[in-house]
Amino acid sequence: MGKTNWQVYRFGNGSADGNASMSDLLGGKGANLAEMSRLGLPVPPGFTLSTEVCRYFNDHDGQFPDDLRDSVSEALREMGAGLGTGFGDQDAPLLVSVRSGARASMPGMMDTVLNLGLNDKTVTALAAHAGDARFAWDSYRRFIQMYGDVVMGVSQDYFEEALDDYKLEHALTGDADLEADDWQAVVGRYLDVVTRETDLAFPQDPAEQIWGAIAAVFRSWNNPRAITYRQLHNIPDDWGTAVTVQAMVFGNLGDTSATGVAFTRNPSTGENEVYGEYLPNAQGEDVVAGLRTPLHLTRAAREDSGMTEPALEEYMPEIFAELVQVFADLEEHFGDMQDVEFTVQQGKLFILQTRSGKRTVRAAMKIAVDMVAAGQIDDGEALLRLDPISFEQLLHPSLDPSAQIDMLCRGLPASPGAASGKVCFSADIAESQAARGEDVILVRMETSPEDIHGMYAARAILTSRGGMTSHAAVVARGLGRPCVSGAGEMRIDYDAQLARIGGRELREGDVITIDGASGRVMLGQVPTLEPELSGDFGTVMSWTEKHQRMQVRANAETTEEAARARRFGAAGIGLCRTEHMFFNPARILQVRRMILAKDGTQRAEALAALEPEQRSDFASLLLVMADLPVTIRLLDPPLHEFLPKVEDGLDEISALLGETPDTVRERIHALREANPMLGHRGSRLAVTAPEIYAMQLRAIFGAMQDTDGKGAGAVEIMLPLIMVADEITHLRKLIDGEASAWAAKHGFTPEFQIGSMIEVPGAALSADKLAHALSGQDGFFSFGTNDLTQTTLGLSRDDAGSFMTNYMGAGLFETDPFTTIERDSVGALMEIAAQRARGVSPSIKLGLCGEHGGDPVSVTFCDAIGLNYVSCSPFRVPIARIAAAQANLLRNQSPL
Ligand code: PEP
Ligand code: MG
Repeated sequence: MGKTNWQVYRFGNGSADGNASMSDLLGGKGANLAEMSRLGLPVPPGFTLSTEVCRYFNDHDGQFPDDLRDSVSEALREMGAGLGTGFGDQDAPLLVSVRSGARASMPGMMDTVLNLGLNDKTVTALAAHAGDARFAWDSYRRFIQMYGDVVMGVSQDYFEEALDDYKLEHALTGDADLEADDWQAVVGRYLDVVTRETDLAFPQDPAEQIWGAIAAVFRSWNNPRAITYRQLHNIPDDWGTAVTVQAMVFGNLGDTSATGVAFTRNPSTGENEVYGEYLPNAQGEDVVAGLRTPLHLTRAAREDSGMTEPALEEYMPEIFAELVQVFADLEEHFGDMQDVEFTVQQGKLFILQTRSGKRTVRAAMKIAVDMVAAGQIDDGEALLRLDPISFEQLLHPSLDPSAQIDMLCRGLPASPGAASGKVCFSADIAESQAARGEDVILVRMETSPEDIHGMYAARAILTSRGGMTSHAAVVARGLGRPCVSGAGEMRIDYDAQLARIGGRELREGDVITIDGASGRVMLGQVPTLEPELSGDFGTVMSWTEKHQRMQVRANAETTEEAARARRFGAAGIGLCRTEHMFFNPARILQVRRMILAKDGTQRAEALAALEPEQRSDFASLLLVMADLPVTIRLLDPPLHEFLPKVEDGLDEISALLGETPDTVRERIHALREANPMLGHRGSRLAVTAPEIYAMQLRAIFGAMQDTDGKGAGAVEIMLPLIMVADEITHLRKLIDGEASAWAAKHGFTPEFQIGSMIEVPGAALSADKLAHALSGQDGFFSFGTNDLTQTTLGLSRDDAGSFMTNYMGAGLFETDPFTTIERDSVGALMEIAAQRARGVSPSIKLGLCGEHGGDPVSVTFCDAIGLNYVSCSPFRVPIARIAAAQANLLRNQSPL
C-alpha cells in the first residue's frame, strides 16, 4: 500500500493499516474496526481519516491537505474493487457511511451521514441490485434528509413537513403505507426543499458528496453539544475527531435482515449474559432513536419481559449463535465488556462497531471482580478500567421500602438510583431551575444530544419512549443520573406542558420520584435510604489499598460524617473545620456573644459557655476515628460570617449582651470588611484575640484527656491562612503555653503535632522558612487549594461561579480551577512549596484538603508531586482512593 504523508488507514477483508492501540489517531471507532478486521471478523470494508487531518482542517480554515484527495480516491477504488462495486458507478454503486469517531466515545454528539453515493441514477441501480425499489427510494430520501441537515444546514423540520404534506394529500398515515413510487415522489419534494432553502441543487456527484460529508463531520467536532459534552467529560478540545468511511450494509432489506445493539454482559448489573436489542428489517438509527420498540436478543430476556415477538435467538438462531461467538472472541481479545453494533443483511452478519461498553458502577465492579476471579485480567488492570468519578453513582440513595408510594407508572430501569424533583419538560428550563437550586426531573418523550445540558442539570431523567440503549439511558448512565426510560403509559403534550398517565395529569412543577433501579415512577417525594455497599465494593477497595501509595483522608466535622468516612476507608480526618461546629443553631448565639462582647469579661463568659460544647464535639469525633489521625483546624473564617444578617436575630443577641439594638448594630457595622476573604480571618484572629484559640486548644486537650487511649491515633492541630513563618512561631508559643498549662493543671500531657495550611502564594514560596518554624517536632503542611486557587489567580471563590462557564465556553480554562488544580500556577506553587519544605524537613508530612482532593485529575497530580495524602468529602473518599491507586499504577508502569 503506497503511503503518503496524509495516508488514510484502510481496513476490511481480514487486514488493516491500523490497530486497536491507535485510537489517538484513528478514534476509538476507527481503531477498533481495524482491530476487528485483523481478527477476521465480518466488518464491512472502509478507511479512516485521522485526527491529524481534523486538526489540519481546523487550523487551515476548512482546507484539506493536498495529497489527501488522492489517498481517499484510491481507498474508495480499492473498497469498491473488493465488493464488485464502484463509487459513483451507475450499475453497481458503492454506498458508504461517513461517521465521526473521537479518541473517547462521545455518543451522538457529532454528525453522521449514511447512504452516501446515492443520486438520481444510482438509486435505480440500488433498486435493481436489492430487488426492492421501495427500499432504494426510501434510502435515497433518508440520505437527502441527513445530508441536507448535516452538510447543507437544512432543518429536519422542513423534510418532516414535506413528508407530512405528502401523506395528507394521499391519505397515508404511517411510513409503512408509502410504496416505492410514493417515496420516489417524496424524493422529488425533498430535492425541492434543499433548493428552496439553500438556493443550491442537491449534489449529484458522489465525490462532491463525500467531501461535503467529511468536512461536515470534522466541523461537528466544534458544534455546541460536542463542546458541552467535552466540558462535562474533561475531553481536550485539541484532540479532534477521526472520520471513518465504510461500505454500507443494510438491515432493512426485508425479513432476512435486521439490525441491533448488544452488550457482551449486562451493563446494569454486570451479569455475564448477552444483553441487547434488535429490530428486524430496520436501520441502526431506528433502534437507537427509540422510534420503534426494539425486541430482545435472548429468549430468556423476552420471557422475563412478557413480550410475544420473537427474540433474535428464536428469529435467527444461526445468526444469534454466530453473534455469541463473536462476543466471546471480542471479550477475550479486548479483555473487557464490549458494546457492539451489528447488522444482518439478507442472512449475513456484519459487525459495524465495537467499543468498551458503558456500564453502571455496580456493573463495572462486578465485571472487574468476575474478570479478575476468572483470571482474564489482574487486579491492577481491573482498577485502571474503573472510572473513579462514576463511583458517585454507588452512593446514590435508594427508595425506602417501607415508604408509602403513589405509583404513577412503570418504565425501564435504565440507570440506577432514586431521586425526587419537580417535573420539567424542557432541557433549558431544567438547567435554569437547577441553577436556582431546584431539584428537577427532566421529563421528555425521548432525549437527543441537544438535551445534554438539561440532563446534566436534572437530578434524574424520565422518558416515555426508547429502550435500555436509547440516548436517554446511555447518557444517564454515563452521567450517573437515575433514569427511567420508555414509560409508555405516559403521554406527553409539550404544547400544554403536561403529561397524562391514565386519568391523571402531571404538570410542570409537580413533584415526582423515580427509581432507576426498578423503573417505577411515583407521585410526590418518596423517602430514600443510604446505599448498601456490596461485597464487590469491598473487593475493589481492597485492591486500592494494595495499589495506593498516597493516602486519602476525609474532611469531616460531625460523627456521622466521620463514621461514613471510615466506612469508605478514609485513612483519617484531614480537615475538621471547627467553625462548622459553631454554625449549629444552639451555639450560634454564644458565638455571636463572643464576637460582639463589649469587653474581656463578656467575651470570657461566652467562651466559657462554648468550651464544654467544643470539648464534647471533639471527644466524639476522636472516639469515632479511634486509631486514625485527626487534623483539627483552629477557627478560620471572617467573624462577620457569624453575625446576624441585618435585622434578623438582632433583638435576641442584644438582649443577651444587655445592649440596645442600636449599639449592637453599630458594633456589627464596625466589624464589616471591604474584602473579608482577605481580611480578618484565619490565624490573624489569634493574633488579635488569642483567647479564642486558647479556648479551642483547651477543648482539644480536654477531649484528648477524656478519650485517652481510645481516641484518635494522632491529633494534629492546624493553623489556617498562614502568610509568613513568624506567625507560626508566634502561635506556637500560644499553643505550647496552653499545653503546658493544661498539663500542670490537669496532670495530662497532650501529645500532638502542629502544622500549617498553605493557602496563599507567600506561604508556598516561603515553605522552607515555614518548615523551619515548625521543626523541633513532626510538623505538617496541608495545601488549602480552595484559598490557594483564589489567592494565586486573584479569583474570588465566592464570585467566580457567575462567569466561569463563560471562561470555559471561550476555551480559556479547560476545567474550572476550583474543581481541578490549575497546573501552571497553583500546581507550580505546590511543587515549589513541597520541594522547599522537604529541603528543610525531608520527612515533613504534606497533604491537601481543598475540594480538589476529590477530583481524580488533581489526585493524580498530588500523587505525582509526592504528597502523603489528600483529604476530601467522605462521599468522595472511594473516588479519590481509586484515583490514587490508578495514579500509582500508571506511574509505576510508565518508563519515566
Ligand atoms: C481551602 O482553602 O482549601 C480549605 C480547605 O479551607 P476552606 O475551604 O475552609 O477555606
Ligand atoms: Mg481555606
